[in-house]
Amino acid sequence: MAQIKISANKVEKRFNPDTTNEVIAIEDVSLDIHEGEFVSLLGPSGCGKSTFLFMVGGFEMATAGTLSLNGAPIDGPSANRGIVFQEYLLFPWQVVSKNIAYGLQIAGVSKAEQDRRVAELISMIGLQGFENAYPESLSGGMKQRVAIARALAYDPEILLMDEPFGALDAQTRSRLINDLTRIHQSTHKTTLFVTHSVEEAILLSDRVALFSARPARIKEVFEIDLPHPRSVTDKNFVRYERLILKSLEEEVKK
Ligand code: ADP
Repeated sequence: MAQIKISANKVEKRFNPDTTNEVIAIEDVSLDIHEGEFVSLLGPSGCGKSTFLFMVGGFEMATAGTLSLNGAPIDGPSANRGIVFQEYLLFPWQVVSKNIAYGLQIAGVSKAEQDRRVAELISMIGLQGFENAYPESLSGGMKQRVAIARALAYDPEILLMDEPFGALDAQTRSRLINDLTRIHQSTHKTTLFVTHSVEEAILLSDRVALFSARPARIKEVFEIDLPHPRSVTDKNFVRYERLILKSLEEEVKK
């Protein structure tokens, strides 16, 4: 088995602790994510998925339990964690290549190396010819491809994605799922992917961790043993879908 990359041990997160506004977002989550694994977090809306991802990103701290990366506690954000959000968060005043190169520039990477890396990523995300386009001239799917390239630019150890395809139409979403599968197969980047779509989770993941209704605990972890590319009409896909939907529906009803 591959090395454990991200480890959550009895993680709890309370917002506004000990006040009348206290919210227990996460109660007791333990989960190990191995190097190269693609794991989706699925669960009812508001159950704590994004909160968990933010804690792995180092933007929020756990109020109890431990969360570590390579065995060391996560105590803040770092360039070794690339993040993609639902909103594209590109710099509107910079062209595609500059948006992708941003992290490399901050890190003081040489211009030649920046150019080489940006060309490689542009090709990986299939945006050749758009290097000098501004975000406003791109479709939602293209913007999200740029955001993925930007997150990968620094060659982070892990990729964190918070409903990255939530704002896209079905066709674009399906294309990006294929792109992301291909990218994951070529980079083997350890990925934590938050979604509320059972279909997305099964199409993309090695494992799907289902969170309970808030306060979140891990209800069930499903290992998706299907070859890529996956098809939503495949009978084994449908079998997983039924299984996960049934478990998810029990939580949504709570
Ligand atoms: P999900 O991603 O599963 O939809 P979230 O992680 O965004 O859920 O939110 C989990 C719960 O924590 C929600 O009830 C939300 O209102 C609450 N929450 C999230 N961030 C904060 C915050 N900064 N302060 C107080 N409550 C918060």
